[in-house]
This record gives sequence, structure tokens and C-alpha cells, in this order.
Amino acid sequence: MIAADKVASDVASHFDRMKSEGCSFADARLYDEDSSQRLVLYDGNLESNTSSIERGLGVRVLKDGAWGFAATADLAAVAACFDRALSNARAAAHLPGFPKDMGLPQPTTGSYRSPVQKDPFEVPLAEKLAFLKGIDATLEDKTIAQRIVWAAFQRRKIIYWNTEGTEVDRWVSNVFATMMAMAPDKDGRTHRRSVELHGDGTGTRGWEWLTEPKWFSGHADRIKSELAEVLAADPLPPGRRDLIILPGQGFLQVHETIGHALELDRILGYELSYAGGSHVRPEMIGKLRYGSEKLNCRAGKHQNSPGTFGFDDEGTPQRDYMLIDGGVLVNVLSSRTDLGEANELAGREVFTESGSAARATSFYRTPIDRMTNISIDPGNDGTLDDIIAATEDGIIVDVPVSWSIGSNREHFHFGTEIAWEVRDGKKTRVHKNPTYQGHTLEFWRSLDMVGDQSTWCLQQVANCGKGEPNQVMQLGHGVPVLRFKNVQTGEKE
Ligand SMILES: [Zn+2]
Repeated sequence: MIAADKVASDVASHFDRMKSEGCSFADARLYDEDSSQRLVLYDGNLESNTSSIERGLGVRVLKDGAWGFAATADLAAVAACFDRALSNARAAAHLPGFPKDMGLPQPTTGSYRSPVQKDPFEVPLAEKLAFLKGIDATLEDKTIAQRIVWAAFQRRKIIYWNTEGTEVDRWVSNVFATMMAMAPDKDGRTHRRSVELHGDGTGTRGWEWLTEPKWFSGHADRIKSELAEVLAADPLPPGRRDLIILPGQGFLQVHETIGHALELDRILGYELSYAGGSHVRPEMIGKLRYGSEKLNCRAGKHQNSPGTFGFDDEGTPQRDYMLIDGGVLVNVLSSRTDLGEANELAGREVFTESGSAARATSFYRTPIDRMTNISIDPGNDGTLDDIIAATEDGIIVDVPVSWSIGSNREHFHFGTEIAWEVRDGKKTRVHKNPTYQGHTLEFWRSLDMVGDQSTWCLQQVANCGKGEPNQVMQLGHGVPVLRFKNVQTGEKE
């Protein structure tokens, strides 16, 4: 195996060669290790156990305002990889488009390590399966038709270099898990209740996170009994009412109607053919009232989240910054290369620095603008009980079962696993088949209560998809309990 040190010296010599060929910038990412494992139990039986290990190099060169990218798993062929990237940049330079520009150099050195006490890849398979089977056994019940428990683990060691002298390395550990119970109601329609591994944004990202009962296994009894309540419940009658969103649903509301809408490459139209566009335009920065004054949304750096990685795939140290401040849109998710184009479109300098959101899913994919931790700051409207007590006519919803979002993220429709009715300040009966819908800006402007820190929860996203070829990305959302006024809920017959 060719050592990382040898790759580093090869890359340095080819950086010099690319500069002599007229490239204004070049970078390289060595995935020294990219390991993953996924275990899936169906009804207590091991349905799949898949593992992968990858190692390779991805190279970008910038010449005449155009990117060229190439990748190789053959680390004896670094020269050919740079040649291919250069050839691709030369070809791309003939295509129409706004010239790419990295802006001012920002040489950086550093290291990032995910906090881990017990590396999941060091845990024996038998111990992993015993843990998952223990959860499955708790879910087992004659009323439940199907049970799914799965866990996935990632371990990545990535070294990044560029022609500005940047050298950063990262060891990233991710753990994901879901448990789900499903059963048909008296009409034969299947319902489900589930929970994912979640947290409070602190702590560690190793095996010890997964096995801490309060973040995962301790919820099995609860979802089983809640599913029984859903099966016995009446459908949610349609109507406009207040909507209280728990973090298990709030994360997807943020993901789909704030996160994706604020990715600069979508705003500029580069994702139109697959992921879609955005209702946001560069000139709206600093002006658009995205939500009520209660809405404070940031690209955060919570210690314990798959959206925390130290340095992005352009070597930019991860930033913690506001996207929406007091309801006003103030920034977006960006990398370095498109800021000039966005500023020209805005007719003024709306962006001065990268949002540290350039992320690639593997060595053989080029970085694109991705979510990091897109989180809502806790508010000062108290606990969940306080918010319920202040609600006359509403519902509480948790965990998505279906979602449909406008291609520019301008409107949405969600179905959730469960809804609890709130009447005169009290949580009452459960309803099945809850749904709600709205227009993104109108909806966020109707946000009138934001729960305190006790309601804030970090939810993980294991499989955000974007880009062509597709790139699956991992990230996090920290969300408090949120209340929205007068929302359209339920389906009209
Ligand atoms: Zn997504």
C-alpha cells in the first residue's frame, strides 16, 4: 500500500506542475480510509450486513475560470489523475458560464477529530447484533406486524492539500440508527412509529452514543405504545389550527424549507436539473423577511453531529454563523468559488467569505454546497408543557412519513406518524394520518413560539441526496419545539 506521506509528496510536485501549466488553483483530497458498515434487522432477523472500505485521491484544478476534476483509487497513478483533471478543465473552459474564482488565498493548517470513546469499528459484530436484537425484543408484540432496527457506522480519514499551502486532516466518525414498528389499522392501512438516534449536540460520536439509552434504546417502549394509540385513533379532521412541531419532525421542516433553499449552488441554478432551485435570490440577502422575529437559524458547529467536520473540502475552517437573524435572511450555505457570481447578480457585495459548506461524499465526487448543521436557536417561550398550556386549539406532530416540496422550496406538504390534539391548554387524544401544508415564507412568518433549551434536540440526517452524479451526505439539525399559528392541517375529503 502506498503511504499517505508518499501521496503528499507526489501531490506537492504536481501542484507545481499545474501552476506551471497556468492553473490558478489546485487541490487534492486523499481518503486514506473510508469505511462504512450497515446492519439491518427485520423482525429480529439479520436482513443485511454490508461493509465497504475505499481509499483514493480526488483532484481539482482551476484553469481559465473552469474546474477540472479527476479521481483515482490507484495511488501509483497520481500524475495521470492530475493530467485528467487538467484536460477536463481545458475542455470546460470552452463552455459558457461565469468564471470560477477562489478569491483571496487562505492558507490553513490543522486537524479535526470527531470525539469518540469506543470506535464502532472495534466493536465485535456479535456485540452489535446483540444490542440491536435487544431493542427488537422490546418492540416485539402480537399487535405489531413488522419491526425494523438498523444501525450504520462510518469512519473516514481525509487529508486535504491545496496550492495555497493548506494542509488539514480529519478523522470523522458517524453513527446512525433507527427503530420502527409497523401495524395495520382496522381499515388495513399501515401505520408506523419510529425513532432515530439523536442527541443534545454535545458528547461523543462513538459506540457509547448509540448505547446510551436516553438517545435511542430507551424509546422502544414509548413508540410501541404510541403506535397502539395511533391504530385506535380517528383520522385528523381537516382545519386551520395551531401547529406544534417536535424536533423529530422539525428537523425535516428546517431541512427542506430552509436548508436546501439556502444552498448557493441551488440559488444560482446549478442544481436545477436534479435537486431543484430556490425561491431565494442573491439580492434578497439582508432584506428578505424569511420568518417571524422569533426565527434565528444558524449554520452551527455543535460538537456532536455529522454536520461537524472541522474543515470543509476546500480546507476552510468550519464556521458558526447566522443564516436567518431575527427572521431576516442574512447569509447562505456557500463554498469559495461562486461568491463572485452571487455578488455580481446581487449588484453589491453580499458575500465576503465562504460558508465552509463545500462537501464531497467520497474521493471520487467533487465538492458541492451542502448543509452542515442547520439549526434553530432555542427561544424563550419555555418548555413543551408551557407551549401546550398556551395553546387553545392545536395539534402536536412528530416524525415524517411523507413529504412533498416545491422544486424551488416555496411550498410544502408533510405527513407525520402521529398527532396529539391540544384543547384549552391540554394535550388530549391522538389522531392518525396527520398532515399539514403551507407556503415557506408565510409559514415561517407564522412562527410565534420557540421552546427553550430543554426542548432543543439534535437530529441526524444520514442520507441527504444532491448532485449529479448523486452524492449522499450526512448532516445534523438542532431544533427546539416550534409553534406556528393558524396552519392548514388534515386532508379535505
Ligand atoms: Zn436533503
